[in-house]
Amino acid sequence: MRIFSLLAHILFPASCLCCQKRTATQYLCDSCRDHLTLNIRHTCPHCRKRQTSRGQICMECLDISPLDGIFGVLSYKDPIVKECIYAFKYAFVQSLAEPFGVRMSRRLQHEDIPLCDIIIPIPLHPLRFRWRGFNQAQLLAESLIEHLLPFHTIPLRTDILLRKRFTKTQAKILSQKERRKNLYNAFSFQGDPSSIQGKTLWLIDDISTTNSTLAECARILKKNGAKEVWGITLAR
Ligand SMILES: [Zn+2]
Ligand SMILES: [Zn+2]
Repeated sequence: MRIFSLLAHILFPASCLCCQKRTATQYLCDSCRDHLTLNIRHTCPHCRKRQTSRGQICMECLDISPLDGIFGVLSYKDPIVKECIYAFKYAFVQSLAEPFGVRMSRRLQHEDIPLCDIIIPIPLHPLRFRWRGFNQAQLLAESLIEHLLPFHTIPLRTDILLRKRFTKTQAKILSQKERRKNLYNAFSFQGDPSSIQGKTLWLIDDISTTNSTLAECARILKKNGAKEVWGITLAR
């Protein structure tokens, strides 16, 4: 067991982060998992102003945005959602990926979002990966795949999108221009473009605050032939 997850187990004895009910191993009990506030305000991933029914691109941004939509499952405005995601990312409570994946899959099963051919988690820089010990987006993607479709396992690819440059957290940068500069050359495509050509892809991440990371990854994937790219996030 990694020292950090060991520490997390000491800091967070196995009880639900939400209702504090004692559980054997779960940090989010089934009932609280099912009652986390859903995100119901979906907006265009580019202008972020116009509301669209599923977070798809609005008519005005149709030709500008590489993303076809961003669908955030839970509401990041809910303090409990925020706290759980914080525990997941920074207190190293990896097991939260399971209830999160269940919740994501249940919601996505009922949404009219084009089903993807391939799922790609937003990669972490190797340095951040070493520090955290896991990529939270990958754990969410794995759990989502496990629960989404009963008779089909959507392929997960972690080898075609690479994070080359260590970047500052996008949410901490205020201007659009600075954000673009921060992401310049941060990601690259690796391998054979024919693996994604004409395909619909879902990019998975924990939260989408500025959308700029998802948009940059979508840009690279579209440049290499992807037909449609959606950002699917745990919260928005
Ligand atoms: Zn609970
Ligand atoms: Zn728009």
